[in-house]
Amino acid sequence: FIDFDRVVKRFGDLTVLNELSLGIDKGERVTLIGPSGSGKTTILRLLMTLEHVTPIKHAEENGGVIYLDGKPYSHTEKNGKLHVAHESELRDRRKKVGMVFQQFNLFPNMNVLRNVTEAPVHALKQDKDKAAERAKELLDMVGLSDKLDHYPSQLSGGQQQRVAIARALAMDPEVLLLDEVTSALDPELVADVLDVLRDVASSSDITMLIVTHEMSFAKDVSNRVMMFDKGVIVEEGAPEQIFNNPQEGRTQDFLRAVS
Ligand code: ATP
Repeated sequence: FIDFDRVVKRFGDLTVLNELSLGIDKGERVTLIGPSGSGKTTILRLLMTLEHVTPIKHAEENGGVIYLDGKPYSHTEKNGKLHVAHESELRDRRKKVGMVFQQFNLFPNMNVLRNVTEAPVHALKQDKDKAAERAKELLDMVGLSDKLDHYPSQLSGGQQQRVAIARALAMDPEVLLLDEVTSALDPELVADVLDVLRDVASSSDITMLIVTHEMSFAKDVSNRVMMFDKGVIVEEGAPEQIFNNPQEGRTQDFLRAVS
């Protein structure tokens, strides 16, 4: 469903992803682990089209392309020339993908309900009442039905993050990207956010890519773990295998350092 075929991503001289290939099936929930700087966030940002792959010669033939649902998702090459997707193409692709960020990134000038209805109404052209109805259901699911009129500044970090989860789900994405969603939270607020995400995982077949340092959450929620180092997959497998019986020295060192 999500396929990276020898994807390269450089920032100037720094090669972050070095011909990375990976495949994720629809409905899989995959956790990406690995040391800081190993390229995990970059993978999510590429899928959110916040970053673009580095073009390579004879892309597609030689790899260098991300595919979503069998279609090229990143810039490709046509007749030897870089084919840069138009903003409208990108917007269409992006509709399938939702992301929750470490820093919530809510719209500060909109109340909770508007934060959740804004994209469905403007990007999907949903009817306002219908969008509000769905938003209320989602806000109920994340335990915030009594905060519809509040502004982000009036909420705790954990509550803001739960609004961000509802906001991402309101677009009905096929893929949900979670980038260290609990890292900015006080420890006592982490559990509620993780509970909500466990509910989402168990009640839907949404494909999830999760970057987290919460190893117990990764164990609970994901069905596959990929260990990255320097932009390549060092080791991957079922969570029990990676966490209880890692084979590679780099995975063992990493898990020792974070536990
Ligand atoms: P962390 O766990 O610290 O978030 P990560 O594995 O998610 O790490 P990335 O955020 O993907 O790693 O970053 C990989 C490398 O790319 C890092 O060295 C980072 O400094 C660099 N990088 C990321 N974005 C940019 C950018 N926009 N410009 C330049 N370098 C960048």
